[in-house]
Amino acid sequence: MNFKKLDIHPALLESISINSFKKPTAIQVQAIPIIQQGRDILGIAKTGSGKTASFAIPILDKLLSNPSSERGRAPKVLVLVPTRELAVQVSQVFHDLSKNLPTQIKSLVVYGGVSINPQMKGMMGVEILIATPGRLLDLHRSNAVHLSKVEILVLDEADKMLNIGFQEEMESVLALLPRKRQNALFSATLSEQLSSINKVLLNEPALVKIENKEDDIELINLFGYFVSEERKGPFLRYLIKEEKMSQVLVFTSSGNKADKVASKLNKNGIQALSIHGKKSQSARMNALDRFKSGNLLVLVATDLISRGIDINDLPYVINYELPRSPKDFVHRVGRTGRANSSGKAISFVTRDETHHLKVILKKIKRYMDIIDSEEINF
Ligand code: AMP
Repeated sequence: MNFKKLDIHPALLESISINSFKKPTAIQVQAIPIIQQGRDILGIAKTGSGKTASFAIPILDKLLSNPSSERGRAPKVLVLVPTRELAVQVSQVFHDLSKNLPTQIKSLVVYGGVSINPQMKGMMGVEILIATPGRLLDLHRSNAVHLSKVEILVLDEADKMLNIGFQEEMESVLALLPRKRQNALFSATLSEQLSSINKVLLNEPALVKIENKEDDIELINLFGYFVSEERKGPFLRYLIKEEKMSQVLVFTSSGNKADKVASKLNKNGIQALSIHGKKSQSARMNALDRFKSGNLLVLVATDLISRGIDINDLPYVINYELPRSPKDFVHRVGRTGRANSSGKAISFVTRDETHHLKVILKKIKRYMDIIDSEEINF
């Protein structure tokens, strides 16, 4: 299968090839024609599967074949995402795919935590708007954007978007959109909550499920250590040195803890930064950029960040604290061992978490060797 077999505008085909996409990924093969046909879609695929391009390509294709003369503040396409990082990533894909097109298709990304004024100014002539829900509502309240012309709605990482925390905002946004529109929902997992919302939101959707999650996890080496809470810090430093780690993503369950772990590492001469919801946008981007480019040894993050970020082929992920759900466990360890290269995911487990760990492992159908850190001299 190659992109030429999909009925894509020649200029966009050229753009795809400039981006060195040689052949469509599994989700792209299935999702592109469905979206081109104007059907609703529920796509189950995780970050790394090429899902962003699986909606960006048919959307750009439609806009190219149907150029608009209007240049207002009323986007035709709205892509909603849960985090700023994902917003930036999605926007980059639209940008990369559209920059060489003969007709200019303007996309804009808006998210909170940064000044709203440039976003208001940038709205003029926008055709594709990528937004986090809160900032979108702020912009709407300021009359900077009109949502009555939206023809296509994309919810990326929809499972996250439909969480309690986003519910009110989502309802407000949905109420502002025209009823007649095309909907595309993408999610890493198909939860019960998601299936109930699908019924309300989607109109006879085509279900596209890319089943590679378990295979991916299969490639990842899972290790565990029993470590008491107070010995976790020294043990983490020991492991980083002992295994000569050069790039490691450490997960904690709160932002506060992430800060503490990073600060302790730095005090001990190990370069680390934390990244979580309470950090400023620039601090988050800076940490992520440095980590991605290999200029930061340790990134300490919370679960909010584990979804959506596109960090490829990480050699190590460490669960400093176990996540609450098996789903989060999969998201966390899924940052390593991607694209068919194996990675190592290490979990710190306190004795009283033994049962919780068993529940997680049973759910993900994996076995994990656990060593007692008391037996190690560090
Ligand atoms: P995503 O799942 O959207 O986060 O995409 C993960 C990565 O795959 C991104 O870095 C894309 O640039 C890349 N990608 C997407 N589609 C293709 C393709 N057909 N061929 C090669 N790389 C791709």
